[in-house]
Amino acid sequence: NQSLTTPQAEAVIDLDAIGHNVRVLRRFAGDAAVMAVVKADAYNHGAVEVSRAALAAGARELGVTTIDEALQLRAAGIEAPILTWLNTSDADFGAAIAADIEIGVASVKHLNAIASAAKAVGEPATVTIKVDTGLNRNGASPLEYPRVLDELVRLGREGTVRLRAIFSHLALADQPHNPVVDKQRERFLDAIAAAKARGLVPELVHLANSASTVTRPDMQFDMVRPGIAVYGLSPVPELGDFDLIPAMSAKARVALVKEVAAGEGVSYGHEWIAPRDTVVALLPVGYADGVPRLLGGKFDVLLGGIRRPAIGRVCMDQFVVDLGPDGGGVEEGDEAELFGTGDRGGPRAQDWADTLGTIHYEIVTGMRGRTVRRHV
Ligand code: PLP
Repeated sequence: NQSLTTPQAEAVIDLDAIGHNVRVLRRFAGDAAVMAVVKADAYNHGAVEVSRAALAAGARELGVTTIDEALQLRAAGIEAPILTWLNTSDADFGAAIAADIEIGVASVKHLNAIASAAKAVGEPATVTIKVDTGLNRNGASPLEYPRVLDELVRLGREGTVRLRAIFSHLALADQPHNPVVDKQRERFLDAIAAAKARGLVPELVHLANSASTVTRPDMQFDMVRPGIAVYGLSPVPELGDFDLIPAMSAKARVALVKEVAAGEGVSYGHEWIAPRDTVVALLPVGYADGVPRLLGGKFDVLLGGIRRPAIGRVCMDQFVVDLGPDGGGVEEGDEAELFGTGDRGGPRAQDWADTLGTIHYEIVTGMRGRTVRRHV
């Protein structure tokens, strides 16, 4: 999104941090290639900019959810391999094939739709099989998988569909020592063996998301598929930050500074009553822009060099910060950091997630509405 005038709230994306994080992930990955997961507009960090920064730092491939997302990257001139892994069977597979986009398949129905599109386009489709090894969400089920393999053998002979890779996705990767992780690994190996037994030899196989990339070298196979770690957010927060740097900082500029008398209630519902005469700052960013309403009264911002408490309810467009009786020297137009790297003692997206009982993925993808993204 763009602003016609000076934005009131921004999500500032540090592309050097993206590059740093990809280099960190490459170190963890060793010989395995890195596919940067840039779905959902790169977790709301800007898919085109992040893809370029990640590729420049040595990511070899890009992963997205939909064909539309992949086509947007191609339209921006990005030529790296792109995999799309979740489409309905009436998706525009022809457009994907024509743009040399690799398609994830989980069923014979999909495979046949892809084969028809390949015939219409006059070029073979390249596919990755998504095999379900226990997440029980996307991916071919144990019953469907052999049928997909058999159909691929047939379509391979016909020359319409080429198998490039086999992948699976983990249910409990953020618990590296949970036996489910090992069980999924074993099933994945069985799935690869089943393909090979039919003469289907994939060029590469991949399983690890961010959490497995940094905690389980035995899960790395030929390629790793980190998303959240690319954005500098720890995939296993209780194990530390893995030298990653958060790329998104959320900022807003003070729209108004004013006095509130002792005993006055602040914001809807008067959930905060001034215990003394005080000065407050109004930040023009609210739940419509990505500051969850449930955070009300439970978070701080970095303003005027220190952390200051947000008070009262978060509204659609604004919330209020207590500056204390002397106002702390804060003036209209000053910039507040809502979350960022935490370097200067400010909050991090992780803090919001902890307070809300959610994950930082939801915090960074939620900074939308009138929050304007700016890459630096
Ligand atoms: N692979 C697939 C298939 C995904 O859907 C995702 C995102 O959830 C990832 C990899 C990246 O996961 P993470 O962001 O936890 O690294």
